[in-house]
Amino acid sequence: MSASRAAGGRAAIPANMPDYERACARFSWERARARLAGLPGGALNIAHEAVDRHAEGPLANVVALRFLGRHGAVGELTYAQLRAETDRFANVLRALGVQRGERVFALAGRIPELYVAALGALKHGAVFCPLFSAFGPEPIEQRLRIGDARVLISTPQLYRRKVAELRPRLPGLRHVLLVGEAAQIDEIDGVEDCRELMVAAGERCQIAATAPVDLALLHFTSGTTGAPKGALHVHEAVVAHRATGEIALDLRPGDVFWCTADPGWVTGTSYGIVAPLTLGVTCVVDELDFDAERWYRIIQDQRVDVWYTAPTALRMLMRLGAEVAHEYDLGSLRFIASVGEPLSAEAVLWGREAFGLPVHDNWWQTETGGIMIANYRAMPLRPGSMGRPLPGIQAAVARRDREGGHLLAADGKLQLAQAAGEQGELVLRPGWPSMFRGYVGQEQRYRSSFAGGWYLTGDLVRRDRDGYFWFVGRGDDVIKSAGHLIGPFEVESALLAHPALADAGVIGKPDPLAGEVVKAFVALKPGMRPSEELRDELLGFARMRLGAVAPREIDFVDSVPHNRSGKIMRRLLRARELGLPEGDISTLEAIR
Ligand code: ATP
Ligand code: MG
Repeated sequence: MSASRAAGGRAAIPANMPDYERACARFSWERARARLAGLPGGALNIAHEAVDRHAEGPLANVVALRFLGRHGAVGELTYAQLRAETDRFANVLRALGVQRGERVFALAGRIPELYVAALGALKHGAVFCPLFSAFGPEPIEQRLRIGDARVLISTPQLYRRKVAELRPRLPGLRHVLLVGEAAQIDEIDGVEDCRELMVAAGERCQIAATAPVDLALLHFTSGTTGAPKGALHVHEAVVAHRATGEIALDLRPGDVFWCTADPGWVTGTSYGIVAPLTLGVTCVVDELDFDAERWYRIIQDQRVDVWYTAPTALRMLMRLGAEVAHEYDLGSLRFIASVGEPLSAEAVLWGREAFGLPVHDNWWQTETGGIMIANYRAMPLRPGSMGRPLPGIQAAVARRDREGGHLLAADGKLQLAQAAGEQGELVLRPGWPSMFRGYVGQEQRYRSSFAGGWYLTGDLVRRDRDGYFWFVGRGDDVIKSAGHLIGPFEVESALLAHPALADAGVIGKPDPLAGEVVKAFVALKPGMRPSEELRDELLGFARMRLGAVAPREIDFVDSVPHNRSGKIMRRLLRARELGLPEGDISTLEAIR
């Protein structure tokens, strides 16, 4: 199957970036910016680039967003319709007296109104902040408060369950606009019916002439290593969204694109809304949660060209086996990419078996606003590597001292790794447009993310001789044992090759001799029972595969804690092991 696909069909379409080295030599952010439409007087607005610029040309009647709901329900908005809806929403904000720069939050599932609110708020010049709808009341309150929310868009159900009680404690939250059944909304005090306001609003608006550096989006990080931070992004981020969508995801006008992330995480906004729309793409939005068969059916029935997903979903698909994928016609796919967590070489190659295409890993963070390091369609793939920096991005490996601090040379510059293969912290040279401009309310923390002229990502990596970056671990998760630096992911991947295991999380446990020893927490597949024999077998299995970095201790657990974006919360395993407070668990997934 893979051979025939490689020979013809969509795979025959040339890549947007046929030659990486050449693209790097020619690229400049000024040139990337010049490909946007812009607004008079040097103004720039994300929503204008994503919607209005397409709403009158040949893309006007192309579907911009296609929503897949329960029981086969499908809703569509063309670019022209999306313009009308977002204009109305911007007018609603104006009528309510919302000022430029004020924060408009959304707490809703992946419904059309969420997308309209996002783009409409940007048109008005407000700052948009999407919240993940599965959050409980406490994390919602925390974020609304930190972000100084002025307006909240939600549904009657979510508002009643999660916000109504907090409302008296949020005096700054002036307007709550609900979407849903009018009768239900009427019964709730202190809220307004969004649909009614939309109908009353004019259908054309004047897009705010935002400056490129005006604030546009507020995104909270995943809270994997501590309390979530609110990263602020500006309108010129759209320069990077468009460029990276084109280069790293190979998107082009007319494509059908499915980004599986929720807009509550930065991926679901940067690549679930902004990047594809700036490129005139049709975005598929699935309103429901993960379900393997449903997902395969979506790719098949929607004829998805480009699919952007996460390792956690791929792992779940892998568990079911490639045979399940073969029951569907997935031949429309041209490119598959993954982000959020390390993607094992095995998962990259499994893509070939299941889809006839490898999965292309890429790396970025909430703070970087867009993809920074990637495996590109037309560059030789190194399974297990995150790829190479985007054209326009300068990435390096900074040396760290034994305590994980940064090594500064006498002239205040960072000491960078010189030799290929040396491990250190991934650092990026600031200056790309989607770079965050602050953590809300944490000026000092923001400042301390920079040193010697570099942005410090907090992730440990190594770079090989050919410039490919390899993920080692998060700075806080990396285990220092008897002089070795051990990335927990490597140990977890090796353990997961054992047929009895469903999940594994690995931490460093303090040890007087080695500094730390590797300890694994494993969850068994259904039907398997913990036993001393199985523990010994797992220890032996890991030793055989990993040698000196194998876990010394293995505990059986019912489930390994993940956060809602799918990442293993190793800090929680560590806190539990050491009997320390659990810290912020607002993004912990409830059941897994
Ligand atoms: P917090 O900053 O609150 O602890 P977080 O870092 O998980 O949470 P995000 O910004 O959503 O929040 O995630 C970015 C991080 O995810 C990266 O810094 C990196 O650790 C991890 N990550 C993203 N993509 C990859 C990848 N391709 N390979 C390995 N790790 C990745
Ligand atoms: Mg982070």
